[in-house]
Amino acid sequence: MSTQRMRDDTLLTHLGRDPASHEGSVNTPVYRSSTFIWPDTSTLPNHLHNADDPHYRGHIYGRNGNPTTAAFEDAVAQLEGGFRGLIMPSGLAAIVGAVLAVARAGDHILVTDNCYWHARQVFDQILPRYGIQATYFAPMLGEDIAGLIQPNTRLVYAEAPGSSTFEVQDIPALARAAHAHGALLMLDNTWATPLFFKAFAHGVDISIHAATKYLVGHSDAMLGVIVTTEPLYAGVRETVRQLGYIASADDAYLGLRGLRTLGVRLRQHESSALTVARWLQQRPEVAQVLHPALPGATGHAIFQRDFLGSTGLFGVVLKPAPEPLISTFLESLRLFAMGASWGGFESLIRTQQRHPSAQIADGVLLRLHVGLEAVEDLIADLQQGLEHLSVTQPSSRSLP
Ligand SMILES: *Cc1c(COP(=O)(O)O)cnc(C)c1O
Repeated sequence: MSTQRMRDDTLLTHLGRDPASHEGSVNTPVYRSSTFIWPDTSTLPNHLHNADDPHYRGHIYGRNGNPTTAAFEDAVAQLEGGFRGLIMPSGLAAIVGAVLAVARAGDHILVTDNCYWHARQVFDQILPRYGIQATYFAPMLGEDIAGLIQPNTRLVYAEAPGSSTFEVQDIPALARAAHAHGALLMLDNTWATPLFFKAFAHGVDISIHAATKYLVGHSDAMLGVIVTTEPLYAGVRETVRQLGYIASADDAYLGLRGLRTLGVRLRQHESSALTVARWLQQRPEVAQVLHPALPGATGHAIFQRDFLGSTGLFGVVLKPAPEPLISTFLESLRLFAMGASWGGFESLIRTQQRHPSAQIADGVLLRLHVGLEAVEDLIADLQQGLEHLSVTQPSSRSLP
């Protein structure tokens, strides 16, 4: 079926499905196959050759993919406006694989200072072993990163908004600066997903997603995906498959299943998160709310210009408070569980590190993921929790 002119909500119900190829099955089945049988000896040399051909759509060996993983790759790439996708076993593997595919010894990478913490560890600790050096730029520099680009800068690495302090970067400006110097722009688009930020229409060359978050959406699988432009696809595919990266058909299936409800889930996350964020802004215990869709947020105008929606993850800076009180607050919450990750159906909260160039209020940086619970219950939970921090709280509890 031609999906050219359909809206995203329609695409989400159709992408990665082809009942006619699967006995009429509504969903693309799980192909749990490590190998695919060759019909006759004459196809054998052909298959060996085809295994290395990035445009060959048949299936040969499980590490090169199967119909379920291919369906997920195609669905994400089409939704985002890229050429094709490469499924990966985690979001971090997608970052590592994509960077290794385009950078080599002697290259320099310019990385946004507000990037995902474990990506930073890769840039600081793993890549230097292989002769690839990274330096960091303040997230709001935009086209001024031109002054930081070196002759050997191969890649500019962005994350918009940064998933700990939520500055929204000017992706088209970063793309212009990178491309003017022959460098590529790579984006961690996990927060907005392919639904709310069309990376390739804004100049991105390689986009990665921690599909573990909203694409799978149910906190029950680790999954990643790399999406590229057409010229980059064959090279990135060759590197990541030669490195041995693939994900299982079962997890690809969970990714496809997540896509079916991505639109309704994200709009609910968006609405509840905005309600909670606005409520927090009014609270006396709160120094600052870091939410790209709220006026005054860093990069808010860019968010309004480039993004199609916001999601459930944002930051809150609590006014400075003694650590035991913060612990009491966090442990008193019943609906916001303390946990890493986000993007599932459930609400989560955690303390968060500041990156070196963060320009946010003093206090305790927290990150909230607003899940699909009733928003009134979420607010009631936070309200009873914040009362533990309140300065007007009777002090009798701490007296002997
Ligand atoms: C979680 C996350 C990742 C890594 O994904 P995993 O699937 O956990 O490896 C990368 N980027 C961002 C922004 C994330 O939140």
